Amino acid sequence: MNEPVSHPEPRKPDLILVGDRPRPLVDGFMRRITYLRLSVTDRCDLRCSYCMPERMTFLPKKEVLSLEELYDLATGFIARGVTKIRITGGEPLVRRDIIDLFTALGRRIGHDLEELTLTTNGTQLGVHAEALAKAGVRRVNVSLDTLDRAKFAELTRRDSLPQVLEGIAAAKAAGLKVKLNAVALKGVNEEELPDLIAWGHAEGHDVTLIEVMPLGDVEEERLDQYLPLDTVRAQLEQRWTLTDSTHKTGGPSTYVDIAETGGRLGFITPHTGNFCSGCNRLRVTATGQLYPCLGGGERVDLRAALRSDDPETQLAAALDEALRIKPEKHHFRMDQRGAAPALARHMSMTGG
Ligand code: SAM
Ligand code: SF4
Repeated sequence: MNEPVSHPEPRKPDLILVGDRPRPLVDGFMRRITYLRLSVTDRCDLRCSYCMPERMTFLPKKEVLSLEELYDLATGFIARGVTKIRITGGEPLVRRDIIDLFTALGRRIGHDLEELTLTTNGTQLGVHAEALAKAGVRRVNVSLDTLDRAKFAELTRRDSLPQVLEGIAAAKAAGLKVKLNAVALKGVNEEELPDLIAWGHAEGHDVTLIEVMPLGDVEEERLDQYLPLDTVRAQLEQRWTLTDSTHKTGGPSTYVDIAETGGRLGFITPHTGNFCSGCNRLRVTATGQLYPCLGGGERVDLRAALRSDDPETQLAAALDEALRIKPEKHHFRMDQRGAAPALARHMSMTGG
């Protein structure tokens, strides 16, 4: 990898200054942005049926930001008060040399960055877990919707469950704290969710359930996939003792503790819960498009700013614009059969 991903020391956060002081990122609803979700690729080695079609069209590589540009962008956000960065995708670990970006950003932990994490499907964790831990990553979210190999193969269109389980084990062995994320899917993993949760907790992993969102065309009827999490919670309560937890991550999850498993369970409920009020994040795609809201069409082009003659000023202006247009809440709905996707872009574009 070339400069600046291989910067030996944390760089002074000099990209976005007002006078000589960086201005914090606060949106029009007085929400302070401290969390960046940075997508490093739209490509993936799986094809989860709720996320993308089998014949997904990926972006030409030349449109994707280089690792150096991703690092500079992250620097710009850190300068404006972002303290937590989650690397996502697509599948971040399929991007070539991605560990170099983790290593470079990891050097900033304890200086101007509090946490560097990633969301992954786990297939490449067997290869990369130790390098991630060495780079300073402490926690990793792994998406796992089923423990049934045949169902996994059907759902992701790839027979990779053994590899994913090996990846999760490798992450644990490398000392990474694993959180499992499962999208609740009607008639697919509905019956299995208690077993998945029990397995995760027995392995020492927190588990979070997610409601499916109508992002991008996926060949299937969204409403057929949608399983409201208030229904799931009611079913789990028949079996276990759930107690609301005070645990907070600054994200959209609400948590319960399960007495019988001794573990924690999160719920991400864009449809049935108040998902947006505490939103502290911005999302940037691998092409440098900033989407202030996962569920909105608003967009600001950071790549153009980054590649302009005056990146500092242009980036500052672009971030101010993003704050100005960040909507109060998402507007996607899950109650219309046959409806076009609320948004044309897939989750793999914006980064989950
Ligand atoms: N490939 C990585 C992974 O699967 O963890 C990172 C990117 S993936 C887009 C991030 C998260 O988004 C995953 O947990 C995935 O299950 C979730 N996801 C994808 N499409 C979704 C959708 N339409 N609704 C809800 N969650 C979705
Ligand atoms: Fe790939 Fe993640 Fe989308 Fe599944 S959810 S297809 S693993 S990007």
